[in-house]
Amino acid sequence: MSHRKQSQIYEPERCWVGDVQKICYATHEEAELAARVAEYDHGVSHLSVYKCEYGDHWHLSST
Ligand SMILES: [Zn+2]
Repeated sequence: MSHRKQSQIYEPERCWVGDVQKICYATHEEAELAARVAEYDHGVSHLSVYKCEYGDHWHLSST
């Protein structure tokens, strides 16, 4: 039996915003936390959290 190991990795939900696929965050707090982590890990500055206009979730914006 050799099952292919897949679908066990957590894939964040994404949606298309313009030309890019953005990760969806279920809550404002979750998005805030991800922004802080990105700033710390990748030196990204001033990520802002905004409510998606296409669904009931949040995204990060660097602009
Ligand atoms: Zn969205």
